[in-house]
Amino acid sequence: MVESQQIQIKKITQSRLPEVDMVNLEFGQTFSDHMYVADYANNEWQAPHIVPFGDFSLSPANPALHYGQALFEGLKAYKADNGDILIFRPEANLGRLNLSADRLCMPAYLEETFMEGLKELLRIDADWIPSAPGSSLYIRPFMFATGEFLGVKPSDTYKFAIITCPVNAYYSMPLRVKIEEQYARAVEGGFGYAKAAGNYAGSLYPAKKAAEEGYHQLLWTDGKTHEYFEESGTMNLMFVINDTLLTPALSTSILAGVTRDSILTLARDRGMKVEERKIAVAEVVEAAQNNTLQEAFGCGTAAVISQIATIGYRGNDLQLPPVESRKYSLAFAQELNDIRTGKTADKHGWIVKV
Ligand SMILES: *Cc1c(COP(=O)(O)O)cnc(C)c1O
Repeated sequence: MVESQQIQIKKITQSRLPEVDMVNLEFGQTFSDHMYVADYANNEWQAPHIVPFGDFSLSPANPALHYGQALFEGLKAYKADNGDILIFRPEANLGRLNLSADRLCMPAYLEETFMEGLKELLRIDADWIPSAPGSSLYIRPFMFATGEFLGVKPSDTYKFAIITCPVNAYYSMPLRVKIEEQYARAVEGGFGYAKAAGNYAGSLYPAKKAAEEGYHQLLWTDGKTHEYFEESGTMNLMFVINDTLLTPALSTSILAGVTRDSILTLARDRGMKVEERKIAVAEVVEAAQNNTLQEAFGCGTAAVISQIATIGYRGNDLQLPPVESRKYSLAFAQELNDIRTGKTADKHGWIVKV
């Protein structure tokens, strides 16, 4: 086993926690007292630090600002009823972070050091992990170039960091989504499978257009033909038709969600038929029209499952069955919640206890 690096710790003098209203948290607006930071220089990761949450200082010629050499991750930790701190599938997130890093010519981060560092950060900020039902600590690892030069080439230096946010149960209204046939989030051969910062900048404009038409989010289709579904906003997309769980097969233009993988696993566990394949827009529109489309939802770490109520297609709104009737996705949401909070046996080894 590779040894993890020694962490240097500098704690805050006074916690900001007493000033925080933990009952009314807006997602991504409140940050815990500490953050984890490590620098890459001289071809290796330097010893990490845990320090008070605070600003970075950057060169105006930082290549992440000019050319987007930057990536991120998202995962959650939960407080079990007995007070244990449980992290959901952190190895999967580190694996994906390193896949994204490879695509962006950035260095992989160190597994042992990451796991030890994340645990230490959560221990230090344990009081920031809410325990109300459905609440959690959202964990945001990220990495970006820190060089000082203009020119399109990989940087020699990088920063890896982890910040965390307490979040409440994510209640989202069943969504109105629009099938996007003009713009693309990602294309085959591009880097849609990487959680690269630039993918999200490019999705803002089409999402803004859809919002002007009264939709919460887009259903992305493939960039070449726009005939096949890819994702739902920044979530993976799933349908239930004929009691079969359908989701687009992974490709270079689809982000391999940890929630997606977890739901597919739970579906297979219960003997449900699962198909990962190309899913035509025409197939789903037809199923919605002849009432065989039972469920449609987005899935991702932040919201876990976001129900889709209405699908806008070429100026028409297709209404989907009421959310209360969606026995599969409601069951998956409950099962996932029970596993993540330690209420159900963790038979797939998804939980890392701090
Ligand atoms: C992060 C993300 C997802 C969901 O991934 P999870 O690991 O389940 O959170 C899906 N699609 C896109 C584009 C994403 O950025």
